Amino acid sequence: MREPALGSGSVYTSTAPPLYPNLAAPAAPFPNPPLTEYTVSQMQIGADLRSIAHHGRPLPPLSCLAITLLLPVSCVAALLLQPASGQTMPAKPLLIYSIDVEGGQSTLLVAPSGASLLIDTGWPDANGRDADRIQQAMRDAGVTRIDHLLITHFHVDHVGGVPELVKRVPIGEFLDHGPNREDSDITRRDYAAYLKAIEGKPRRIVHPGDTIDIPGLQTIVLTADGEHIAAIPGVKPTSNPGCATEPKWELDTTENPRSAGILVTFGQFRFLDLGDLTKAKEIPLVCPDNLIGTVDLYLVDHHGFNLSNSRAFVDAIHPRVAIMNNGAHKAGSPEAWQTVHQSPGIEDLWMLHTAEDSDAAHNSSAALIANPKGATTDGAYLKVVASPDGSFSVTNSRTGETKKYSAK
Ligand SMILES: [Zn+2]
Repeated sequence: MREPALGSGSVYTSTAPPLYPNLAAPAAPFPNPPLTEYTVSQMQIGADLRSIAHHGRPLPPLSCLAITLLLPVSCVAALLLQPASGQTMPAKPLLIYSIDVEGGQSTLLVAPSGASLLIDTGWPDANGRDADRIQQAMRDAGVTRIDHLLITHFHVDHVGGVPELVKRVPIGEFLDHGPNREDSDITRRDYAAYLKAIEGKPRRIVHPGDTIDIPGLQTIVLTADGEHIAAIPGVKPTSNPGCATEPKWELDTTENPRSAGILVTFGQFRFLDLGDLTKAKEIPLVCPDNLIGTVDLYLVDHHGFNLSNSRAFVDAIHPRVAIMNNGAHKAGSPEAWQTVHQSPGIEDLWMLHTAEDSDAAHNSSAALIANPKGATTDGAYLKVVASPDGSFSVTNSRTGETKKYSAK
């Protein structure tokens, strides 16, 4: 089923000139304080210097001071990078930003190595709004290029932002599931615009079981072009009791069930993003056996449409925390919200917007919503900071407040 077009609201009707081409900060997209707490950790030397200063590192031994006179640069550098006695440097985190593209998808991952993966690019037009917001997240993470751009499928709320983004940001490679399969003029148009935008640039078609080479992370493709992985290396399939009561869902013929979906593992931390995969394609991943196992963070399928998020699937993946990338008037359906909300392992369901066409009983509390109804600003994102021990936090960029989830 085709998704609704852009919603209403002043954000779509701005007549301001485009901000590109430049990498300067956009004109105050929202007045939040900068989230520097974790950005610092992406800057190794700066972080080390701060850590040493903070912990009051003892004076270096005399021998090294003597050597310093002969080899000032190398020795001083070695001393500065050496952890304080009895202390270990904290592991650098994985950063994940769920960027507000008003009911589309754009999710930025930055590994401890600084390597980056962007999943989808939001919508076209709107004066480059979604590219602005992607660049805002990139600045917060301290990256200036995208190493890998995965396009989950060729609907405009995912692929539409590519032509604008490629004008602004260096992108190492483009990953997608292969040719558009949807028999519709609009998606043929959006696919053609994508091909034109990436002409001459590295493109790789991904298949289930393929990996994306991001140092420090294990990133594996679970679904693509309607196919799915038979088994995930290192994951033992387990029987899923929820399959017995799950209805048989009809397959739709759009691009949605062809979404390229990935599982990202960082030590004990696991993140699942399956794009707009619909129910008929969710079920084979978890029935009769759950091939995925459980995850810590689940990007809610298809922005929280009830065409996705079957109960047997959501319960099986057992997310601790979920993020729904809905728009104010797109997706966030009561049925999907309820399924995720009452899944057995859930601690919090975060949302990018209040689902204004739903009701209070099927929306999260305001603290868990980046852009609640009535907010004076728009475009706030949710930032996840994950550690390899499985602990992680979520920060709401609108409020600057962070909620922590301890390792299990
Ligand atoms: Zn979508």
